[in-house]
Amino acid sequence: MSPRRTLYRDAALADGTGPSLRKGVSVLVDDGRVVWLRPTSEEGDLPADLHLVDAGGSTIVPGMVDAHSHVTLPGGSHWIDRGFDPPEELLEVAEHNGDLLAQAGVRWARDVGSPAAVDPVDGRKRALALRVRERWRNNPTRPRMKVAGTWMAHSGVLPPGLTIEVDDGARLLAAANAQFDDGVDFLKLYLDGPKKEEAPWSTEDVRAVVELAHRRGAKVTAHSGTLAGARVGIDAGVDSLEHGFELDSDAAAQMARRGTFLVSTLAIFRSWASFAQTTMLPRFVAKEGRERIARRREGAIESVRLAHHAGVRIATGTDFGGGSLRANHLAWEVEALVEAGLQPWEALASATVRGRELLGETDVGRIFEGGPPDFFLVHGDPLSDPTALWRVWRVAWKPDMSWTMDR
Ligand SMILES: [Zn+2]
Repeated sequence: MSPRRTLYRDAALADGTGPSLRKGVSVLVDDGRVVWLRPTSEEGDLPADLHLVDAGGSTIVPGMVDAHSHVTLPGGSHWIDRGFDPPEELLEVAEHNGDLLAQAGVRWARDVGSPAAVDPVDGRKRALALRVRERWRNNPTRPRMKVAGTWMAHSGVLPPGLTIEVDDGARLLAAANAQFDDGVDFLKLYLDGPKKEEAPWSTEDVRAVVELAHRRGAKVTAHSGTLAGARVGIDAGVDSLEHGFELDSDAAAQMARRGTFLVSTLAIFRSWASFAQTTMLPRFVAKEGRERIARRREGAIESVRLAHHAGVRIATGTDFGGGSLRANHLAWEVEALVEAGLQPWEALASATVRGRELLGETDVGRIFEGGPPDFFLVHGDPLSDPTALWRVWRVAWKPDMSWTMDR
């Protein structure tokens, strides 16, 4: 069933490139392409068999990029336990997440870690998200993906069995090579070590991995919960830091100078704060737990503030699945970036334009004639109110909204 020729008439447009809304915009979509984008007063001759969508009062937004996602995992307060669920269960979770992402206006999921499982087709053990990427590749209504494979971490940091554990530079390099053989798009290093004040590997060890990846035309990103790991990652030339919860002004200045992206995940702390009400887990409910989370949240907001002031490019992520958020929560992160001092349009740019730059794909996060219909419509103005992004009304790349029928 091919999608109908559709005209979205008289919407506003927030394209993430500036602070002002364009009003009175019409967009014609045909055969999976944007035919044109014109002022509503200048639509000109219209083709026959047109499905007209009166978009009055809504705002067109480019499909967003969740730059830190884990599509095979469900999130929630037991998010780490869920990583040990059977692969078939996790593949079902991924399909549900695919629905949630589209409903939330998220076009691209940059997957920064999934459990590994034996592939029933070829018998190889590799990251489950690679199988999801393959499943979704030829379905234009499913999220588009870039996959980092499985987390590479030092032993003693994450629960055994979830990650590829590597304790020295030679094994790190071998693990990186193996992930490329599995077909990953980029690499993810876990730069928190067993000791908080020490990075798990040396700058030279990490640099060797970065050079390997760059030779293959791929990027390297690094989980960075601590300042020690952030410093090693930046010095070694990783392309981006995930979370960056403990950056100082020095690290931020260096990131700006070297062009290192920050992928913010501040909404994690909003989610954890909500668990004080909704769970019985002491780390969220007890007074010490709540205070610790509030302190870390302040530190993380300050890191983003420093990075933003230094001119670091910030892309946004939810960390859904690998953290406690769910796959339809990217608006929460955009809101959190505004709290951290970004203008609403800059925060939207983080979810669109910066996502494109980070992924290195020209079509991402923009709407253009001849391009894919990768946009969605929200009720309200996200350039003055980021919460408008929660109010998704239509998704142009999935116009029938039949979320589960097309698997
Ligand atoms: Zn994560």
